[in-house]
Amino acid sequence: MKWRGRERSSNIEDRRGQAGGGLGGLGGLGGMGRGGGIRIPSGGGSRGGIGGVIGIVVVLGILWLVTGQNPLDMLTDGQSSAPSTASSRQLPAEGQDELADFVGVVVKETEDLWGEVFAASGSDYPEPRVVLFTNQVDTACGMADSGVGPFYCPGDSRVYIDLSFYDQLHRQFGAPGDFAQAYVLAHEVGHHVQNLTGVLPEFNRRRQAMSATEANAYSVRVELQADCYAGVWANYAGQQNLLEAGDFEEALNAANQIGDDTLQKRMQGFAVPKTFNHGTSAQRKAWFERGYRTGNPADCDTFSASI
Ligand SMILES: [Zn+2]
Repeated sequence: MKWRGRERSSNIEDRRGQAGGGLGGLGGLGGMGRGGGIRIPSGGGSRGGIGGVIGIVVVLGILWLVTGQNPLDMLTDGQSSAPSTASSRQLPAEGQDELADFVGVVVKETEDLWGEVFAASGSDYPEPRVVLFTNQVDTACGMADSGVGPFYCPGDSRVYIDLSFYDQLHRQFGAPGDFAQAYVLAHEVGHHVQNLTGVLPEFNRRRQAMSATEANAYSVRVELQADCYAGVWANYAGQQNLLEAGDFEEALNAANQIGDDTLQKRMQGFAVPKTFNHGTSAQRKAWFERGYRTGNPADCDTFSASI
């Protein structure tokens, strides 16, 4: 991708190298109002260990009781590894600054695309913030660990990514290339678009009454739409002359490698379709490609289509 020298987004929050913040700070959950969240004394700022784990479980349980809302309503993508521990906390790896610049450029291009799309229908596009973190981060959806992969939290309209995921994407998922990285970001921004269009709020409302299997099937349609929106963005990147030979294939390969069937077979040797919540490799490729071919978000209706 020809990204160097292009403008970067002003919505990047660099929290790399910061501690996750211990317990508390779970403000901003729906219905509780900004800044009105529950804060639990963190015992002098100690983190990690059994005490920390129990504390987190207690906090999440309290939030569940008080709000009736699963505090983990974040949309995670790329979950695959054991959570990192406090002892593995580290400073940003060398070479990440270039990656951070890359993220800034990709996010800016998504802002330009979706700003145009929303303006065309007479709406504003409130841009998401994008948080870079290492190991652990405090969000309106709760504390999150790098192990869950990049994710979007509707409660604070933020995309969260530990840049070390890109190394994992390459080595563990077999999806190298900068456009594979761009696809992941554009997918997360797609979740933000869904938050604005009402798709995510409706999903979170309706899934409360669903069985786990039904909720998974619903989740697949949500995720495939985000893939289609990533494809729409790839089309836009092409119009801006940012694509190099092989870029589209890098993204398509990434969509293939993180399909539920492929991931499960790699991890456990077999796939269990009723647990799929992001879509098969074939579905993820098809919807990314569809968005890319047409460049039209209106073609991303995964809810009325037979997927
Ligand atoms: Zn997703």
